[in-house]
Amino acid sequence: MLNAINKTPDKQYDLVARSLRCVWHPCTQMQHHETLPLVPVSHGRGAWLYDTEGKRYLDAISSWWVNLFGHANPRINSALKSQLDLLEHAMLAGFTHEPVVQLSEQLAARTGHVLGHCFYASDGASAVEIALKMSFHTWRNKGLSDKREFVCLKGSYHGETIGALSVTDVPIFRDAYGSLLQQAHVVMSPDARAAQEGESAADVARRAAAVLETLLQERAGHIAAIIVEPLVQCATGMAMYDPLYLQEVRKLCDRYQVHLIADEIAVGCGRTGTFFACEQAAIWPDFLCLSKGISGGYLPLSLVMTRDEIYQAFYDSDVARAFLHSHSYTGNPLACRAALATLAIFDEDDVINANRARAARLTAALAPLAAHPQVRNFRQRGMIWAFDAAIADADAAATFSRRFFTTALEQELLLRPIGNTVYMMPPYILNHEEIDFLAVRTQAVFEEVIAA
Ligand SMILES: *Cc1c(COP(=O)(O)O)cnc(C)c1O
Repeated sequence: MLNAINKTPDKQYDLVARSLRCVWHPCTQMQHHETLPLVPVSHGRGAWLYDTEGKRYLDAISSWWVNLFGHANPRINSALKSQLDLLEHAMLAGFTHEPVVQLSEQLAARTGHVLGHCFYASDGASAVEIALKMSFHTWRNKGLSDKREFVCLKGSYHGETIGALSVTDVPIFRDAYGSLLQQAHVVMSPDARAAQEGESAADVARRAAAVLETLLQERAGHIAAIIVEPLVQCATGMAMYDPLYLQEVRKLCDRYQVHLIADEIAVGCGRTGTFFACEQAAIWPDFLCLSKGISGGYLPLSLVMTRDEIYQAFYDSDVARAFLHSHSYTGNPLACRAALATLAIFDEDDVINANRARAARLTAALAPLAAHPQVRNFRQRGMIWAFDAAIADADAAATFSRRFFTTALEQELLLRPIGNTVYMMPPYILNHEEIDFLAVRTQAVFEEVIAA
């Protein structure tokens, strides 16, 4: 049993107790670990994680949405092993190397070379910082330094460094730091759940776009960019919306001379059913941020892709007009090699198509759960499933979420609801057995926790 630290078997106790003594875990009130289990992972294989007692857990959230092709993937492992013997790292200022060039070429090709310039960092929040800074600096280089404000959506999440947090609308993450942040304009989310009687998801999208237009009419001269998560606002509860919204935003950005930043850190890399989520709206942003799945969940890697027009705004003999941002591990060759191996799997295994069959099977297997009287807003896009438990009160939702996580572990599942929203973002390798296992066990966990 993993229910409490003092009940765990010895081997686990050791690692757990040592961890709690010296590791400050992310996104955690550490005191909760007096009762909440901390799972000591020993190894991973495919969709499964194994703890130090040999107990297995189906990683149904791809280890915070990063792991696309399973743990210890043989193809990614072997690519990394050969890269390791060639070059582990070299600085990217004044130097270049095959993995970073190939990765930039291949990603540009996936946008039809519209986003042909790739700037690298290590984590998602840094990619967001880069996009914000690059947008502001582009306008500045064009003599429009007044354009220094940003727009984000209600319920947006773009990371937790100071700049990224300023375009993140999650009270629990932002409130403590409010006085440190630049105020962003927060506009209506196109979340399809906001549909009123007789309204379609597209109607909600149009309504949200109209709200944005009102702001732009008034303020565009001061606004550098709007940042959106295309199709699904993930971290605040998998809010899904109609692609029409992206088309409307693209038009408004063109009309009012504002940049569009697409944060595809979570929704990119095939997660929504196309390689880039923007493809489903047939638009391209001015900046596109990728991280999470791009390295297959192996190594920290993030990047910002942008258009030639933006790149040209910095191209000059004057150093001060250049984009001087840097991180020590920019373009790390091992991380880029993992990303190349990941992209190769997309092509070799025709992953986008294969995922359609996987998604259809899981959606069908989840039908009984979707029909449960205490399940609301069952929704799916690509390889994301979500539903809301019928719990109104926020404290009760937090308790539900922690209890669900614990009960899921007992059922050999790694699932970590966001408040009352249960979601799945499995790796793109589940076989029929694993899909059915995921559906049956999730239902069992839900029934147990909702009845408690
Ligand atoms: C996870 C995430 C980020 C932040 O990425 P980190 O690597 O955690 O800093 C930014 N935007 C979105 C949409 C994310 O899901």
